[in-house]
Amino acid sequence: MEKIAVIGGGASGLAAAITAKNKMNEVIILEKNVSCGKKILVTGNGRCNYWNIDQNISHYHSENEELIKDFITKTNCQMVMDFFDYLGIIPKIKNGNYYPSSNQALSVKNALLSLVQTKNITIRENTLVESIFYEKEKFVISCGNNKLIVDKVIVATGTNASQKINTKNNGYELVKQLGHTIIEPLPALVQLRAKKNYLNKWNGVRTDVKITLEEDNKIIAQEEGEIQLTDYGISGICTFNLSYYVAKGLRNKKREVVKINFLPFIKQESLKGYLLWMEKRINSIQKITIKENLEVLLNYKLVEVILEVSNIKKDLLWQQLTNSQKEHLIKNLVSFELEIIKTNPIEKAQVCSGGVPLNELNLKTMESRVLKNLYLTGELIDLVGDCGGYNLSIAWISGILAGLNAKGETYD
Ligand SMILES: Cc1cc2nc3c(=O)[nH]c(=O)nc-3n(C[C@H](O)[C@H](O)[C@H](O)COP(=O)(O)OP(=O)(O)OC[C@H]3O[C@@H](n4cnc5c(N)ncnc54)[C@H](O)[C@@H]3O)c2cc1C
Repeated sequence: MEKIAVIGGGASGLAAAITAKNKMNEVIILEKNVSCGKKILVTGNGRCNYWNIDQNISHYHSENEELIKDFITKTNCQMVMDFFDYLGIIPKIKNGNYYPSSNQALSVKNALLSLVQTKNITIRENTLVESIFYEKEKFVISCGNNKLIVDKVIVATGTNASQKINTKNNGYELVKQLGHTIIEPLPALVQLRAKKNYLNKWNGVRTDVKITLEEDNKIIAQEEGEIQLTDYGISGICTFNLSYYVAKGLRNKKREVVKINFLPFIKQESLKGYLLWMEKRINSIQKITIKENLEVLLNYKLVEVILEVSNIKKDLLWQQLTNSQKEHLIKNLVSFELEIIKTNPIEKAQVCSGGVPLNELNLKTMESRVLKNLYLTGELIDLVGDCGGYNLSIAWISGILAGLNAKGETYD
């Protein structure tokens, strides 16, 4: 009987094990934690945003960007939908984001684990895989004093994102032993840090913005939505979606500046347009101070910071400002510059970029191009998605493809 080992019982490992199992083979999940699927429980704030209706490849990032289209295909998306039907999960779709109808991540974890049980898949928990060697067309897996010899291996060890400092994750080492290279892992979907005196003044403010990332003065990404202003910099979904580029840019010694438009609800093309809009607005409310005026539009803590950065006294009237003060103020309202000095570390990130390069894999099967019968899935590979269910999408697609192929089938 053919033996398949799945290293790691997270999202992609569970999907791989379920699809790999048939009556003719034995599938064994080796999981270092006390239980499988632990991370699934914290996804989507406990609701598990497991998929997104908008599967445009622009939501995915990799050093081998040109290969993403071979992975995010219509067929693979349908394959995941069928898998979730099979799990019995009914989606609740909000703004394109898929959640289980229960609104609880626990439903996804339980549905996966009950299929693992039904299909007689063996789970060995509390089992850290320390090494894998390839000998005489078999894989020899070492976990402490125990050795397991199998025909095929699916490595689904994820990354250290969101784990406590010093948590052991040797997934990269395992695949390096087997001949793969690793692109340096960096935090992605993470908060951005700046160094400014005013940060503690705006701490706690949540506001809708349009945010532009400039790298060495060149625009490289734009996002629109809510950000959180914190005492170390910025956070929130928009920020997370820029962080992949920022981490890479800072690594390459680039200058990363975020420009924030705090008035995204006012549609103007130029600074002059905003200036005229403000003049018009002031005409109807001439007697209030500039601070009172701005507090009608924005959170008072943010107004205080914008006035401080613009070097404008808060009790002045708009009419008392010089032209250059007016321009400076408008610029800080619609193009507030924040230089990012670093990202938060991997322990604070939702996912890690980097890992096994896509060109070392057959993306139709997730089989390694370096070693036959070795499959790699999930966050371990060099593919990162935006916020909105895209990282679990990678886990499901890669897990199902690996499982199917390991048992010698394809999805039709
Ligand atoms: C707070 C948070 C919220 C998130 N929310 C979302 C969301 O809403 N939507 C979304 O799409 N993505 C979300 N993500 C990202 C998503 O959870 C991951 O991308 C996804 O879980 C990756 O799946 P994986 O199977 O590759 O790895 P994991 O789910 O991390 O599983 C890897 C497993 O391997 C085990 N393992 C590691 N090394 C070994 C070893 N040597 N031996 C044995 N076992 C080992 C680990 O213990 C773990 O159980 C979120 C992440 C975090 C941290």
